Amino acid sequence: MSEPRPARPRAGIVLTGSELVTGAVADANGPFLARELDGLGFEVVHTVVAGDRPDDLARALEFLAAAGCALVVTSGGLGPTADDLTAAVVAGFAGVDLVLDEAMRAHIEQRIAGWAQRSGFAGPALDAATRKQATVPVGATVLPPTGTAPGLVVDRPGGPLVVVLPGPPRELRGMWPSAVAAAPVQALLAGVSAPKALHLRFFGTPESEIAKTLAQLDTSGVEVITCLRRSELEVDLRPAPGAEDAAQALHAAIAAAHGRRLISDDGATSDELLARTLLDRGWTVATGESCTGGMLASRLVDRAGSSAYVAGGVVAYSNEAKTALLGVPADMIEAHGAVSPEVARALADGARERFGADVGVGITGVAGPGGGTEAKPVGFVCFCVTTADGQVVAREATLPGERQDIRERSTDTAMHLLLRATGALPGRR
Ligand code: ATP
Ligand code: MG
Repeated sequence: MSEPRPARPRAGIVLTGSELVTGAVADANGPFLARELDGLGFEVVHTVVAGDRPDDLARALEFLAAAGCALVVTSGGLGPTADDLTAAVVAGFAGVDLVLDEAMRAHIEQRIAGWAQRSGFAGPALDAATRKQATVPVGATVLPPTGTAPGLVVDRPGGPLVVVLPGPPRELRGMWPSAVAAAPVQALLAGVSAPKALHLRFFGTPESEIAKTLAQLDTSGVEVITCLRRSELEVDLRPAPGAEDAAQALHAAIAAAHGRRLISDDGATSDELLARTLLDRGWTVATGESCTGGMLASRLVDRAGSSAYVAGGVVAYSNEAKTALLGVPADMIEAHGAVSPEVARALADGARERFGADVGVGITGVAGPGGGTEAKPVGFVCFCVTTADGQVVAREATLPGERQDIRERSTDTAMHLLLRATGALPGRR
């Protein structure tokens, strides 16, 4: 028998800033850091949000130390103002003094020299601010600033290792690679193995269906995490050390049980899959949208490089626009209604033809809250995808939720139909 390998080391996050505690600013750093730490192989056990008070920050650090964290990452409070006190508190936590790092002081001074001159703010106050930001705990590894303040890696005797990062999200993300590369962090990572997670992504599968499947399978040694993101369900399988084969078998069994609704079995998102497929085929797509008002077109152009496969889109909201811009016959609208499978098809064909694209998408529906009827209630949406090679994939659905939910779910549904029509789904290639 092989040696049991240790559990994942624990990590914690401290977000500092009274503006985060009061809700004035929405946190953008916690999820980023949690995902990164998770990917490195840590078990993130707590994210603590603390106001800009030294005692509260110190208590947060002590709490995470007592929770057995080997690594703590802090965000914020590295700047030049009086409420920026993370470096001092972390020094106290590690039991060391603060010292002016002369080389860092000179570095910051040089970084801001141009701005200081142009703005006219050069002088004693700015010098004091620069000295404060260059004052670091004795023995800390100093990370080059991405704004004006350096980051820090501070080793507390007996643990945890503390990585101190700036608050502005862009600066924090910019500094993260050098934090991971810092020698003390690398030394800690040497004992951590990154998780070998397997992924599944389904469209329109309720969590209860996956739970039902799992109840009939052997999941021992595999942590199964399901996460519903609007219309898509993500299932992650994380094997405990030694259970990799069991995870593979489980992955295959779940995929087979729900194969009809499988989007990907390798972690790829719908958006990635569609982009890849359109590029592979050399196809372009055009949209004719009514109730989604351009949301599908916007989603399609979210990705860099989308000009290679997005021809364009029309928001044809009024009946007149549907007819004038996309050639939907007025008598078809009269006979079947603007929200009808016929009109969805005509929007798809019209968009495809007018843009000279290979694939056309039509969406028309009742987003609410008014305008619903018994036959076509709020949430009733008709979709159609047509391709230049003669494929037609149509769907009608009554989607739940409020106006915004219905429009977002409509966009998801259209993405899924696009995946089907372009042959991007596993097993249908
Ligand atoms: P600075 O040098 O800009 O003062 P800092 O490291 O001292 O940087 P803070 O003073 O804590 O960081 O935060 C600066 C600004 O960055 C805040 O006003 C806020 O707008 C933003 N910020 C800080 N933390 C977060 C966070 N967790 N999520 C989103 N924005 C944040
Ligand atoms: Mg600050």
